[in-house]
Amino acid sequence: MVYGLDIGGSKMELSIFDADLTLLQRWRMNTPTSGYAEFLQAIKQQIQVADLFVAQAIHGHHHSLSEQNPVKSPLGIALPGVQLDSGLLVSSNILYLNHKAVMLDLIRLLQRPVAVGNDCRLFALSEAQLGAGQHASRVLGVVLGTGAGAGFCVDGRLISGAQGLAGEFGHQSVAARVIAKHQVPLFQCGCGLVGCAESYASGAGLARLYQHFGGVVACSHQWLDAFRLKQVAAVRAFDCFIDALGAALAAQVLAYEPELIVVGGGLSEISEITTAIPTALARHLFAGVHLPKIVSAEYGATSGGRGAALIAMQHLASSTQSI
Ligand SMILES: [Zn+2]
Repeated sequence: MVYGLDIGGSKMELSIFDADLTLLQRWRMNTPTSGYAEFLQAIKQQIQVADLFVAQAIHGHHHSLSEQNPVKSPLGIALPGVQLDSGLLVSSNILYLNHKAVMLDLIRLLQRPVAVGNDCRLFALSEAQLGAGQHASRVLGVVLGTGAGAGFCVDGRLISGAQGLAGEFGHQSVAARVIAKHQVPLFQCGCGLVGCAESYASGAGLARLYQHFGGVVACSHQWLDAFRLKQVAAVRAFDCFIDALGAALAAQVLAYEPELIVVGGGLSEISEITTAIPTALARHLFAGVHLPKIVSAEYGATSGGRGAALIAMQHLASSTQSI
């Protein structure tokens, strides 16, 4: 068996797969907010629960935690951020993970193989190898969640780049024509730059735009409820959001020329958004260009965990340590 842990800003999801990557069990928990020590302990606890599940599956239901567990299933982790060659994580929106050697610390703590990869890249890998992109050659996997990011695969292989940055389109500059058309300011991004695409073309960006146009954001459903009631601030926020997203995806099309774009993440579950993407993309490509096919993720919310399990297995098979 192999474990895939998908870590997001608010939730973590642990999945247990068999060797064929059939999902056996999964559960969710809150991502610790207080800091790195609590984060490591939370993962240790969840892995103990998973080990018990595996032990019971193998040895029957009389197995308890106190018994010696002979099997330590490898763990793959999908998280926001980029792991540098030094092993340190940077550019994570879970701030306490930045400049921490997450993989090495977890190998030591859990006493088993651990592989760490960027959540968006692993989403793309999982969908290109096993999901909606498995019959296409050039696949761009795009995650639209609180943040926005992507990964590009050719024939099921991730093109991760020299530093693992390929696909970080959320921190490309938002298109000038979007800023000019919608008369919005250049927002400050958590990465330190101003005017990053993610500040407009993501869940957080949408909420920020809604607020900018006069909407009140008290919870994450606020914008959608207001949008469905055709409230002006919500409609203006959506128009700017989808335009910024179209421009960002057009830049990806010009750079990678994918034949297929697989969209996942929380925002991909909102049909008003997914159905508007092709037109928004076309608006930023010159006449005569064929749009790539755009589809929803086959594994939806579980793609990250599946991609994480994939690299854990690859990690065992080769000496690849991270993506
Ligand atoms: Zn940024």
